[in-house]
Amino acid sequence: MSMFASPHFDRHEQVVFGHDPETGLKAIVAIHNTARGPAVGGCRMWAYASDDEALTDVLRLSRGMTYKSALANVAFGGGKSVIIGDPKREKTPALMRAMGRVVERLAGRYVVAEDVGTTVADMDSMAAETQHVACTSEGSGNPSPYTAYGVYQGILAAARHSGLTRTGGERELSGVRVAIQGVGQVGAPLAKYLFEAGAVLVVTDIDRDAIAAAVAAYNATAVEPDAIYGAEVDVFAPCALGAVINDETLPQLQACIVAGSANNQLAEPRHGIALAERGILYAPDYAINAGGIIEIAYMDDKREGHPDDPVLRHVAGIHDTLLEIFRRAGQSGRPTSEVADRLAEERFQPTEPLAA
Ligand code: NAD
Repeated sequence: MSMFASPHFDRHEQVVFGHDPETGLKAIVAIHNTARGPAVGGCRMWAYASDDEALTDVLRLSRGMTYKSALANVAFGGGKSVIIGDPKREKTPALMRAMGRVVERLAGRYVVAEDVGTTVADMDSMAAETQHVACTSEGSGNPSPYTAYGVYQGILAAARHSGLTRTGGERELSGVRVAIQGVGQVGAPLAKYLFEAGAVLVVTDIDRDAIAAAVAAYNATAVEPDAIYGAEVDVFAPCALGAVINDETLPQLQACIVAGSANNQLAEPRHGIALAERGILYAPDYAINAGGIIEIAYMDDKREGHPDDPVLRHVAGIHDTLLEIFRRAGQSGRPTSEVADRLAEERFQPTEPLAA
């Protein structure tokens, strides 16, 4: 692949390849933009089919982090890293420490965090080599509960904007039907928030135990993974995989709202336009799933817990950010995915040319 010709290379400030023959580490760190602060983003470990695939992923994800942090109003830039390998078979503490050394060499321009295929324990391993690491057991820990709260606030905003909520107060989502794809670390606590607000839940997962837990705790109806797109619901909440809004799934959707935690939900940008054309209100993924990055922004603060938790207050702001996106989209006739990009771009400077 020609990196500079890649549609995912978008004036990235720095792309670093890290290799450690002893541990087998093959990693790429992409720093998209540091105008607002250090580039913060997760480290994904995945059995990529090729180095090109890994490079494409890290470029796409790091750019997305710049937009996510800008929209969430945190003083971070955008970056991401990937380790090429199967986390189940190839991950060792030594490999993670080697990754920590790659991060350390960037001297704080990139702060690494947890992502798909990495855990809080892995961040602890990296912390032995670098201080530029978030989501350690001593630090901010697992961000999923905050991500779930932000997604809940986003669904509330979308339901209010669409006139689906009939009453105010604690059970404002009474009767609103929500299909959750993936009841994992984000999907499960999201189900709890929705259930407590009166929503009626349909869930799916490839993990039977996860489904059984949601059915028992929240009176959810379980469906097979392929049936979730066509479920008769008001809201489709993708909380498992990316690219789930695509040519195949779009015609099946019954929901009038798509709002969930998964990253990169649109297979291609044109699917954001297609959702708008079908009258489906889309809560842009990086706007609604910013709870985790907001938590990291507070990692040095002491917190007391709900309701005075400053992180929860900041995460709750996702509600108003989305209302602003929906309002601008309504006024301009543009899809929410495009409106979110423009709103984020108002909040960061593009990368400056290299000074002589
Ligand atoms: P997770 O792995 O804990 O949960 C994902 C769940 O989806 C699992 O239970 C898994 O079995 C299920 N799943 C996988 N493939 C499926 C399929 N084909 N159909 C149905 N279910 C399937 O992950 P998570 O931390 O809950 O994150 C969920 C999504 O949200 C991911 O896309 C992640 O990138 C994104 N996200 C998470 C956070 C966070 O704080 N955890 C922050 C931002 C974005």
